[in-house]
Amino acid sequence: MRKGVLLVVAAAAVVLAAVFANPSAAAIRTWRGHERLDAIARDMSQLPDVGVWVQDAAPDWAAMVYPEDPQTILGFVALRATPTATYNGVALYHRIFVAPILYSPLSGYITSGWESANPTAAAVSSLVIIHEAYHFRYWSSDEALVNACALKDFPYWLTKSFGIPASLLKEVQVPYTVEVPYEVQVPYEVQVSYAVKVAYSVRVPYKVRVPYKVLVRGKRVTRYRTVTRYRTENRYRTETRSRTETRYRTETRSRTETRYRTETQTVNNPTFASITAAATAFYKSQPYPYNAGVCPY
Ligand SMILES: [Zn+2]
Repeated sequence: MRKGVLLVVAAAAVVLAAVFANPSAAAIRTWRGHERLDAIARDMSQLPDVGVWVQDAAPDWAAMVYPEDPQTILGFVALRATPTATYNGVALYHRIFVAPILYSPLSGYITSGWESANPTAAAVSSLVIIHEAYHFRYWSSDEALVNACALKDFPYWLTKSFGIPASLLKEVQVPYTVEVPYEVQVPYEVQVSYAVKVAYSVRVPYKVRVPYKVLVRGKRVTRYRTVTRYRTENRYRTETRSRTETRYRTETRSRTETRYRTETQTVNNPTFASITAAATAFYKSQPYPYNAGVCPY
């Protein structure tokens, strides 16, 4: 029942053992369905009664895949099981079995979100679900084809089924410049004329008749002579002078200011990018024929 049934054998098992948490802490030891994974797998497989069967007990996983190495098998389906077929008492029909090493982180991401997920753990666990569901979707046991189609559609399902968008709307601060006018007082000098009265003195001549006595034939006679005298007069003249005055005029200038507006931009979702990159890396690390298919769909 295991031939041509299981899939995703991992050459990367050593790497995965380091990436995934130890799943055995809270062993349940019974297989059970998972409502969210069931809905996801039905969408991927286009089969309305597909169920994803999980548990977190390593011994039960080893029993289911015996004699294969349980650490190298990450999931399987029994594609041609009849509706009543069982193995170890577990019904196989239209069921996807997921290794505990994947179920533990996968259930955590579905419950708590993928943002802090280890990209490799997130990529491998979700790729295995797609891979196993595609065995049903294409009703094919061709591991190369199934795995190629799972990888091709990985980004689509990562968004649709696991809620991780390829891009995010992000608010960014976009700078822009504005010219801001402002007024300044600019000093300038003017020559201001003003008139002053300047005093000056002049000597003004005037004549006076000065009497004097002379003896004429023994008689004193008064005679006059004309004498020129001077008096000082104050006069004024108007002079124009000038002084320098500082005045101010108002000028409008402008300066460039950087301002910011909030814009919503679409940016790549780093969680999506890292998980899809890890899925591609994991695909390439898988052994032939898992890494060598072409998806015709
Ligand atoms: Zn397979």
